[in-house]
This record gives sequence, structure tokens and C-alpha cells, in this order.
Amino acid sequence: MNGSEQRYIDEAFETNWIAPVGPHINAFEKEIADYIGVKGALAVSSGTAAIHLALILLDVKKGDTVFCSSLTFVASANPIVYQGAEPVFIDSEPETWNMSPEALKQALEEAYEANELPKAVIVVNLYGQSAKMEEITALCEEYEVPVIEDAAESLGATYGRRASGSFGKFGIFSFNGNKIITTSGGGMLVSDDTDALERAGFLATQARDRAAHYQHSQVGYNYRMSNILAGVGRGQFAILDQRVAQKRRVFERYFVELAHIPGVTFMPEPGGTMSNRWLTAITLDPEVCPVTPHDMLSALAEENIEARPVWKPLHLQPLFDKCRYYAHSDQSVSERLFETGICLPSGTNMPAEDQQRVISCVKSVFNMADLQEIRYATS
Ligand SMILES: *Cc1c(COP(=O)(O)O)cnc(C)c1O
Repeated sequence: MNGSEQRYIDEAFETNWIAPVGPHINAFEKEIADYIGVKGALAVSSGTAAIHLALILLDVKKGDTVFCSSLTFVASANPIVYQGAEPVFIDSEPETWNMSPEALKQALEEAYEANELPKAVIVVNLYGQSAKMEEITALCEEYEVPVIEDAAESLGATYGRRASGSFGKFGIFSFNGNKIITTSGGGMLVSDDTDALERAGFLATQARDRAAHYQHSQVGYNYRMSNILAGVGRGQFAILDQRVAQKRRVFERYFVELAHIPGVTFMPEPGGTMSNRWLTAITLDPEVCPVTPHDMLSALAEENIEARPVWKPLHLQPLFDKCRYYAHSDQSVSERLFETGICLPSGTNMPAEDQQRVISCVKSVFNMADLQEIRYATS
């Protein structure tokens, strides 16, 4: 929190808008929609709820398929299962670590031949880096398949001149506690289709018909954001650009200190895109590097430093072991990233001294490994 959130919370209390309706919600939706450059936004209880609503609006139901990035958090795909539909997972490519247009093309071609095109494609922008949206949206347009852009991790990032989250029929954001800005829990569904958003709002408030009595003709959900949390969101949104700058500074410091180490590669940021660098992610090339991600994570843990592996690809999850998967080439890029990747501590409130401690620990693991190699070579 940066301080201004409290003012918005106090305002909600003073005006007694303690409900999933109220002025902060309307203002927060407008602020996000304007920032992203879309016609409308709907504040909801989570990013997962936003994806679920998008799938319902696209009429995803039992027996349908939905394509989804494999290298992501499970929340990207869970709502496909809520709808009784079947996820088909698409590999990453090496330049953005996101959905491979090559794998997507092959999957779309095969689905077209089999007369079973997916109802939607969920494209994730991993760790704040946009996928190759131009190629992906062109392919999806060719087959007339709508795109849901899962921008849960990439608020504040850009692709070309446009904001991340503005490329699909729907975009979704998350304000969960770990994201770049937070409402403790919350999400946003954005779109240029304001009629669809109105319908999403109806579904998110138990699908109550227009009647004075409580009448319902279809199933609804309790998915709206509270006015208090929207106040927190407004306070957080005010410093979004500052957060992006801080995250990028954290990345820069790691890069300057560690990029020269043989076998260490940082998550790329292709020209024309700007990542919010939500997490600084690196890979350790096993052909060059004597240190495995496991070694690195344990060494950091010994120093009481929490770091994490890269997301386990969804096609490798027991939950999805029956699902189809399209690899980028004869190599599965997401599997390789999972085997070699680490996310370093990237908090914007991490003091420079703490980051220096992480950097020293990482360097010492390499030094120890070098010493062992020398000892091995000379013995
Ligand atoms: C966090 C996250 C979500 C889910 O958001 P919640 O608000 O936690 O439901 C979805 N997709 C990705 C890629 C995420 O990182």
C-alpha cells in the first residue's frame, strides 16, 4: 500500500457504500478502461472470475474446446473446466516465453480440418511480457476464433503502442495480493463490447431479471468487487506507472550484476514491447552452467530468501493429463523453461541492500560450483 488507499476506504465508510455497488467501483472501472484504451471494464472478485465470465459470454459449454497457453498459472485454464469444456494447451516460443504462433497455427489447422475449431483462445502474458499478439490475433481472425487476453500479470505493459490487455475480444486483469497492484483480491474484465460487459455485470450479480420481485431465468454468479476494495484499487492504480518503473529497476540491477555469468539468460523483451517485469525470471543453461535451478533455490532458501521455479506447464499437470498439447517444434519450449527457469525475488518494496544480498547469494553459488569444477578437473 502507498497511503492514498486509506483515503478512499475512509470515503467508502463515510458515504456508507459498503456493498458490491458504489462510486469507487464505477470510477475504478473507468480509470482502468481509459488507461487500457478500451470502451469498458467490469470490476469483479478475481481474475479467475473475469476469465470465467469471458468464457460464458463466448458461449463456451460442455463438449467445446478452448486453446490456452501451457506455461501459466492454473487459473488461466480452470474456468474452461468450470464450463465443462476441454482445454487444449499450446506451447511457448523462445522470444517471449509466451504462446507460440507456430504451435497455435498447427493446432488451428488441425482443428479446422476436424471441424472442431475452439470457442476461444486464452493467451497469457507471462511475468508481464506480452505474447506475440500481432501474429496470434491475425491467426485467430483468420479462423474467426475470439481471443481472451489473460493480462493478469501484465497490467502496465505495452505491445507496440497499445496497452497489454487491449488485444482480445476480452482482456482480464487480476488484483490478487501478489500482482503488480492489488485490492487484496479482485479482477477486471475489459472489452470494447459494452453490451457484452453489461451482460457480464448481470451474470456477476446472480442474473437477476428486471422485476421488482426476485426473479431468475438463468444461473448467475456472485462475482462483483466490493466498493471498499475498489477504493483500494484506485489508490493502487494511482501509482501503477511508478510500480512498473520500480519493477524494471529491480530487473535492471539483476541484469547488470548477473547477465555476464555463462549460462545465465534473462527473460527476453523483444523490441517494440515493454514488459512490466512483474517478476525477474532467468534460465540456467544446463549445457553451460554447473548450477541447476534446484541448487540455486536451495542455496537461496538457506539464506532465508524465497525464490520460485517457473510455472509448471499445464500440460504436465496431473489435473490436465488427458488434455492435448501442441509443441512449438520437435522441442517443447515450455518444458525446457520449466526445467531451467527461476523467478528471483522482485518485490517493489525490496530495499537495494536486500536485493544485493540476493545477488551475492546467487554469485556465491556459481563461485562454489566453479571451485568444485576446478577441483574435479585437477584431481
Ligand atoms: C493471478 C493470475 C490469474 C488469476 O487471478 P486471480 O485474481 O488470482 O483469480 C490468472 N492468470 C494468471 C496468468 C495469473 O497470474
